[in-house]
Amino acid sequence: MLETTIEASCPYCGESITLFLDLSIEEQSYIEDCSVCCQPMTVSFTVQDGEPANVSVDTT
Ligand SMILES: [Zn+2]
Repeated sequence: MLETTIEASCPYCGESITLFLDLSIEEQSYIEDCSVCCQPMTVSFTVQDGEPANVSVDTT
């Protein structure tokens, strides 16, 4: 599986978190729990030229 990791900040607690992105799907959004404060956040991104683009992390 084509996968990469990026660093992002949790919209709730502001802690730096590592996100695992599946680059085999061109556009997606999903809900992931923060590994620090366990609150659900919406992660969305697109894939351009094999790289993640327009990554956003928002409160649900
Ligand atoms: Zn958090």
